[in-house]
Amino acid sequence: MPKTAEFRFYEELNDFLPVDKRKSWLLYDFMGKPTVKDAVESIGVPHTEIDLILVNSKSVTFSYHLKDGDKVSVYPVFESLDISNVTHLREKPLRKPKYILDVQLGKLAKYLRMLGFDTLFENNYDDSEIVKIAKAEKRTILTRDVSILKIKAVTHGYWIRSQKPTEQITEVITRFDLYSNIKPLSRCIACNGIINKTTKESVIHKLQPKTKRYYNEFYQCKSCKKVYWKGSHYYKIKSFAAQLRKRSSQKLTGTGIK
Ligand SMILES: [Zn+2]
Repeated sequence: MPKTAEFRFYEELNDFLPVDKRKSWLLYDFMGKPTVKDAVESIGVPHTEIDLILVNSKSVTFSYHLKDGDKVSVYPVFESLDISNVTHLREKPLRKPKYILDVQLGKLAKYLRMLGFDTLFENNYDDSEIVKIAKAEKRTILTRDVSILKIKAVTHGYWIRSQKPTEQITEVITRFDLYSNIKPLSRCIACNGIINKTTKESVIHKLQPKTKRYYNEFYQCKSCKKVYWKGSHYYKIKSFAAQLRKRSSQKLTGTGIK
């Protein structure tokens, strides 16, 4: 006998549903006893995006087995809402923000490094490599490909909504609340290596005549030896970071469960 449960997805979890299924109760037909995790993922929502599931108003874990007639409410992460007396499904946030990006996010990788975030990116990573590295190095996966986030071994991941790199960086900074961790000139944009201050003498042979003339403070990547200085590019990054910070202070605090 086929059974039916009703599902409702809240807030940004609706991004994963077809437009006509958003923000309303949808019927889910099933056979046997699937777990609620399997059900939400077959509907299209990856488990890494979910923090709370209520079945008939009671919080459950991902391993809950669906029953005929269940009413299931599925919530994303509420950073500032106190729901401490229920079962949270999301793993605790990783202590240090570190990322690994899929092959479609090269520009975003550059932006993240520019703002000082530890970001791995290679244009030839395949899904299994990304998952393996993420697990071994405790990195959050950022991806445009929802299917990676449905792999069981993935504990920390985020599906990037926008296709525009400048919007993508805003999305990541907002979602992971990274405003206070922004530190330009600390990561190499080319290789993700650590950048340290260095002396002008030690890099003078690498400088163009104008740079030599106008700048005295230099930085260098420990890994690939690329040289950085506080030119116009640096001030563009600073003003971009300031804009992001301003946007964060205007952000409303608290998202209520509706
Ligand atoms: Zn480098």
